[in-house]
Amino acid sequence: MKVETALPATDLEAPPAARPQFVAGHGLRLIADDGSEYLDAVSGTFNVPLGYDHPEVVDAVIAQLRRCAHLSSTYSGAFAQQVLDALLEIAPPGLGAGWMRDLVGSTANECAVKIAQKATGASDVVSFHLSHHGQTLFTTAISGNAFRRSGFPDAVSPHSIKVAPPYCLRCPFHATFPSCGFRCVEAVEDAIRYASSGSVACLIVEPVFGNGGNIVPPPGYFEVLSEVCARHGVLLIADEVQTGLGRTGFLFAAETFGFTPDLMTLAKGLGGIGVPIAAVLMRDRLDVLAPHDHSFTSGGNLLGLAAAAATLRVLGGEGFMAGVRERGALLGSLLEPLFGRFRSVADVRGVGMMWGVEIVAEDGRPDPDKTARILACAERRHKLILRGSRYGLGNVIKVRPALVATQEELEEIADKLGRAIREVEAGGR
Ligand code: PLP
Repeated sequence: MKVETALPATDLEAPPAARPQFVAGHGLRLIADDGSEYLDAVSGTFNVPLGYDHPEVVDAVIAQLRRCAHLSSTYSGAFAQQVLDALLEIAPPGLGAGWMRDLVGSTANECAVKIAQKATGASDVVSFHLSHHGQTLFTTAISGNAFRRSGFPDAVSPHSIKVAPPYCLRCPFHATFPSCGFRCVEAVEDAIRYASSGSVACLIVEPVFGNGGNIVPPPGYFEVLSEVCARHGVLLIADEVQTGLGRTGFLFAAETFGFTPDLMTLAKGLGGIGVPIAAVLMRDRLDVLAPHDHSFTSGGNLLGLAAAAATLRVLGGEGFMAGVRERGALLGSLLEPLFGRFRSVADVRGVGMMWGVEIVAEDGRPDPDKTARILACAERRHKLILRGSRYGLGNVIKVRPALVATQEELEEIADKLGRAIREVEAGGR
């Protein structure tokens, strides 16, 4: 019989230098330089939804590389437009225009804010505590994670207004859904009315707060939030950098939650296997940028565009998204029992292939230290790669495997995570 031993604390405190050195990726597996294999339960940085070596994307990128890797944006427009057309064909109704001169989510979000400011002539940006919108100076300023701002005096913006997130488990208003009547959205309206300069261009929101702790808003939240935005002429930007392209079980979280934002940003998953490429989609009337307003040397990079075109073909394949929903439901059913089985688990929440496991101390408080030990145990002992919500309270384990994960891989993820929690509970300090 296999006896599970408690881990000595030191086993979990190896310095980052002791991290495995990965040299290749295959499907959901990463191969280290010593030949050992790790199961990646978070698809890289949530940007490898098709696995590390999906043949259709690899072939498309190599073929493009052979033709040419780069064209100046003066000449690459037609390629970008093809990808935009493919995106707009599947986008929520109402989004009819796009901009494709970004490689990463941070600048795509800046692009969306620029569009909102230019279109409305207004200045302020409403965003949420625990949100993450990127790491340029401006997106650092509007993100709701103060630790990223420390050390950078310019990472503050007079135009940034932060409001409370719809974090029902730890409701900032100590209210309970649904009897709360969306007190948190009322607070957003109060902020627009009383905390802003009176000139609010947009509100930016992650449909699921990804890095902040996999916070899933309660049913009806986006309907009420959209109404408030519309009432005040505030454009609603959905930052779908993490949630877009199938992560929540539908191609866009806007579809999952049944709302249409005025603008939507996409990055991470758009390149399929981790190739950088980003896009901004918007309503036709918001097609206001001139080419010189927002453009980067590598913005419409042809390799990224080739990867995006191939990724969209795979996602649009017959039955692909239905399969993701099925596997997402399975993943949820495998993770949910962790609540109840372990006293360290206060909540398991998620949608599609985007799940979070909230870890607490004996007294029910968020326990980032225990969370870090579980992550380390999973990696070192079980060769399972997970990530923690450092940007939030630091106590949520994020589980976001590639959309192509098999049933066996999902079972392996849940089993190994459960073992890591058990071992840390048994040997915890
Ligand atoms: N928006 C969200 C929701 C993110 O999770 C991230 C990155 O983690 C970003 C924006 C920034 O994207 P990038 O790191 O590609 O600049």
